[in-house]
Amino acid sequence: MKFETIIGLEVHAQMLTNTKIFCGCSSLFGAEPNTQTCQVCTGMPGVLPVLNKKALEYAIMTGLAMGCTISSHSRFARKNYFYPDLPKGYQISQYELPICEQGHIEISVDGEVRKIGITRIHMEEDAGKNIHEGTGKYSLVDLNRTGVPLMEIVSEPDMRSPKEAAEYMKKLRAILRYLDVCDGNMEQGSLRCDANVSVRPAGQKALGIRTEVKNINSFKFVEKAIDYERKRQIDVIKTGGQVQQETRLWNSAKAVTESMRSKEEAHDYRYFPEPDLGPIMVGREWIEEIRTRLPELPDAKRERFVSAYGLPEQDADILIGDRPVAAWFERSVAAGGQPKAVSNWMMVELMRLLNEENRSIETCLLRPEQLAGMLTLIDNGTISGKIAKKVFAEMYKTGKDAEAIVKDKGLVQISDQSAIEKAVEDVIAHNPNEVERFRAGEEKLIGFFVGQVMKKTKGKANPTIVNELLKKKLIDVI
Ligand code: ADP
Ligand code: MG
Ligand code: ZN
Repeated sequence: MKFETIIGLEVHAQMLTNTKIFCGCSSLFGAEPNTQTCQVCTGMPGVLPVLNKKALEYAIMTGLAMGCTISSHSRFARKNYFYPDLPKGYQISQYELPICEQGHIEISVDGEVRKIGITRIHMEEDAGKNIHEGTGKYSLVDLNRTGVPLMEIVSEPDMRSPKEAAEYMKKLRAILRYLDVCDGNMEQGSLRCDANVSVRPAGQKALGIRTEVKNINSFKFVEKAIDYERKRQIDVIKTGGQVQQETRLWNSAKAVTESMRSKEEAHDYRYFPEPDLGPIMVGREWIEEIRTRLPELPDAKRERFVSAYGLPEQDADILIGDRPVAAWFERSVAAGGQPKAVSNWMMVELMRLLNEENRSIETCLLRPEQLAGMLTLIDNGTISGKIAKKVFAEMYKTGKDAEAIVKDKGLVQISDQSAIEKAVEDVIAHNPNEVERFRAGEEKLIGFFVGQVMKKTKGKANPTIVNELLKKKLIDVI
């Protein structure tokens, strides 16, 4: 029997506002515990929340970017539950009337474009943080995060494979970062994802019973956790069992999902409209004004990178994944870099070096104009492609111009015929065995000779001239 996997994601995104959603406390990450709190966000009696307009604006921006309908009339609701990191005993969230509904995101997997529905986007407040490690008999509570504005973005059960889910997360993150409404950092928890997963026999219409997998805190784990979970469910069904509706946790150390609570143990949140906050009325003019301020979004940028710069789709896809990367590319091209060459150097050398250091392109010493400068040196024959790699690494390390590095290190390409000829003759004279084998028909030895000449000239000889001269000399003597 063949099975189809069905996935719907619930994503929480911390908004990049300066202050919290219902009070004026700073929402900056990383402060001393409990230094960013007040009566409102610690849930003291008798205080009233006031909605942060910026948080509302960010939610609307996100909704517009995902093609949602923005509700002219929405409201907050209380979600009641007890937990030590939730001082009020309830979370202010949205329930029956969210701010955004019915949008979609396009993803492309293996060359196929798929439209993934967005059911809703709603605003809510974050909870505090319990700290259990290194505290002995006690647990500690840090309320700095309490009241930090979140968006919850809920998708339709439209994804069909772990890879699609990962692509969806990547696109979602890219859009949030383009809009500058969330930093998208999964490791630090500013972007979190719960995956709802079910399987059904191929051809069946009705959806299977789903489980919800929590605690997925990296892109790699989105794919792994869902893949594990779908295989587990298929196994259960194939061995005659039934999938239980439950919440499971992804255990990244063991690479498995583990049961956390069953349907019977599920919370009853006793939602009701939040009496301390009035309805949210959003006028059409404001929505349209926000729309005019939306930046160019990833899909539009990809199309432009293909049509305006003639890049292959795959290049464009990678470059537009992150807004600063795309901006870096455009600056380098604006400085005279040939688009495909800039793209190649970025995707191969630059990304590798950045990954090695786990550094973001924004803090990179190498400037896009400097890459364009190096490309000019390759084009006019000053340096070879091989030497360029060295120059590039040095530029990356020091932030110096290519020209200065080439001068300082004496890396100028040798195109002088007689200098190369001397090296070629030396190599031929010192390797009589190889010469004989080459002449006996072992043509692939040409690579060996080129290598020797390059070694002799410290990689600086112009490879085209080396090849020409070698062939001429090796055959000449016959
Ligand atoms: P809850 O709020 O209890 O988690 P929702 O009905 O809001 O429930 O659904 C949450 C998520 O689960 C949505 O992203 C939805 O697409 C997804 N989902 C619903 N049914 C299924 C299913 N059978 N298989 C996979 N995902 C599902
Ligand atoms: Mg859920
Ligand atoms: Zn506060």
